[in-house]
Amino acid sequence: MSDRLVIFDTTLRDGEQAPGFSMRIEEKIRLARQLERLGVDIIEAGFPISSEDDAESVRRVAQSVTEPVVAALARCATGDVDKAATAIAPARRGRIHTFIATSDLHLEFKLRMTRETCLERAVEAVRRARNATDDVEFSAEDATRSDIDFLCRVVEAVIDAGATTVNLPDTVGYSMPGEIATFFRTVIERVPNADKAIFSAHCHDDLGLAVANTMAAISAGVRQVECTINGIGERAGNASLEEIVMITRVRPDLVPVTSRVVTEQLFESSQMLSDITGQRVQSNKAIVGSNAFAHEAGIHQDGMLKDRRTYEIMRPEDVGAPASSLVLGKHSGRHAVQKACERLGLDLARRDIDEVYRRMTALADQQKHISDDDLRTITDAVLADTRSAAR
Ligand code: MN
Repeated sequence: MSDRLVIFDTTLRDGEQAPGFSMRIEEKIRLARQLERLGVDIIEAGFPISSEDDAESVRRVAQSVTEPVVAALARCATGDVDKAATAIAPARRGRIHTFIATSDLHLEFKLRMTRETCLERAVEAVRRARNATDDVEFSAEDATRSDIDFLCRVVEAVIDAGATTVNLPDTVGYSMPGEIATFFRTVIERVPNADKAIFSAHCHDDLGLAVANTMAAISAGVRQVECTINGIGERAGNASLEEIVMITRVRPDLVPVTSRVVTEQLFESSQMLSDITGQRVQSNKAIVGSNAFAHEAGIHQDGMLKDRRTYEIMRPEDVGAPASSLVLGKHSGRHAVQKACERLGLDLARRDIDEVYRRMTALADQQKHISDDDLRTITDAVLADTRSAAR
């Protein structure tokens, strides 16, 4: 099995569908160009049948990037597939991503369709898409809650019809990691032509397990992952691209796959998305949150000053984030106070440091953050007191 992990970014499609994350066409193009710099393999740029604006976005993104494949989403319906085909036509490499739900719950209550009709629609749509492009992805919506025998029949049939990627989404974020690994292993083992397609995971974060489930899927043989910048997406979001990629970089001993993502572009990608949508990530967000490389506790700051590996498993520069910061606050220690004074060009005697430290922690009890100006004010006062005592 290949050790190459294909990164399918759906920030502009699944991500953009979430409340508060809609983007204008020019903003989507700006982000698509950043995704190209980031080195993602596939950009899912929209769902052309859903609106003329979406169709136009896909077409413009297809014209604006050269390296990544540009994908358009389509239900398993003639009009959808044709609209997607038109939208990706300007792309150097275009993909049609066609989907239909396979779970009985969705078939009975949403689509009001039999399993047999579902199977026929899937095969027809994949065939039609293959007439427009060699790169066709099929998704079985709600795959993880589908009857496994039926799902395997659908997967075999769509691969026969020409699907080159088979995506099995955990549409509602219901699975657990061990379960999803067994699920993918079972499908890949049971489908006789499974070796003719790349299997893909698309995990949602309703229970906070999207990234864990994605990693479990990789361990079971999945070689494409669908993800978004900052983990945005429907409801609680999709698997976070930056987290998946950094797990593969930090733990190659356990995750034997590599992507072509330029990790130094991760922070910039996250920031650009936040700027465009006006939605900040929480400060404790892994990889790109403002606290991801910040340390306030005294013991941690002391460890960091002696050797950063004591409390950091990756370097901020590896993800393009600003340098690690030792934040002064009520949990900080003398060592960090001394370093902060040195950084401000203040050379203090040992006992003055002790007094600055005492006054800093007292102030930190009143206010959460100690700025450089606060530290200068404290230091000036301590030095003035020391001088008058010596007189
Ligand atoms: Mn989704």
